[in-house]
Amino acid sequence: MRLRNKPWAQYKMDDNPQIVVPDPENWKGKWNELFNNDHPICIEVGTGKGQFITEMAKRHESANFIGIERQKSIVVSAIDKIKESGQKNARMMNVNAMDLIHYFDAGEVHRIYLNFSDPWPKNRHEKRRLTYESFLKAYEKVLIPGGEIHLKTDNQELFEYSLHSFSKYGMILNNMSLDLHQSEFEGNVMTEYEEKFSAMGNRIYRCEAVYRTK
Ligand code: SAM
Repeated sequence: MRLRNKPWAQYKMDDNPQIVVPDPENWKGKWNELFNNDHPICIEVGTGKGQFITEMAKRHESANFIGIERQKSIVVSAIDKIKESGQKNARMMNVNAMDLIHYFDAGEVHRIYLNFSDPWPKNRHEKRRLTYESFLKAYEKVLIPGGEIHLKTDNQELFEYSLHSFSKYGMILNNMSLDLHQSEFEGNVMTEYEEKFSAMGNRIYRCEAVYRTK
């Protein structure tokens, strides 16, 4: 994602604490108190500009959605979308997903979405891929037992890498699609990248990876 320097981004985040959760570590183990309900909490890691979580929040009012995005200049676009929607069940966190276990207690997260994650094609950057083993470990810690990761990408290499990584970790793979938009999958919510890449003619890959209960 091309980044424009937005020095005011921090101010905008500070001005919108009802959307970008300030000091999110303080809510560890208490996210349902923040949302003031006992609905399941779903997170999107690497949210980008927020189209997916905003639309998911609209369609699924009996769940809570938290977008995790480390770039302040991108979080500000998500603020606008969530605000416009008026959804109270969508929030943002401006943190690095590497530190997920500092923000969520064991079993606090119902589901994780990974949409069009940065592919990091060079071998030496493997550890940065959001489906690298260390991320899978962190996701497992915060998810409910038997929790699921739902992944979409147009990048075949990242898709294949992720399938391998999930399977090496002992996860079960379900509902795989090698061409999501030509499949019978219902209820797809498009992300910004998905719109852009599918308009270019790229195929969209999707799968669900489930942690085994011990
Ligand atoms: N999911 C969006 C979509 O499909 O339109 C955005 C995709 S964009 C290629 C990937 C996003 O993930 C970027 O905004 C990047 O800043 C964010 N990201 C990458 N690694 C991250 C990490 N470790 N923690 C939080 N955000 C991350």
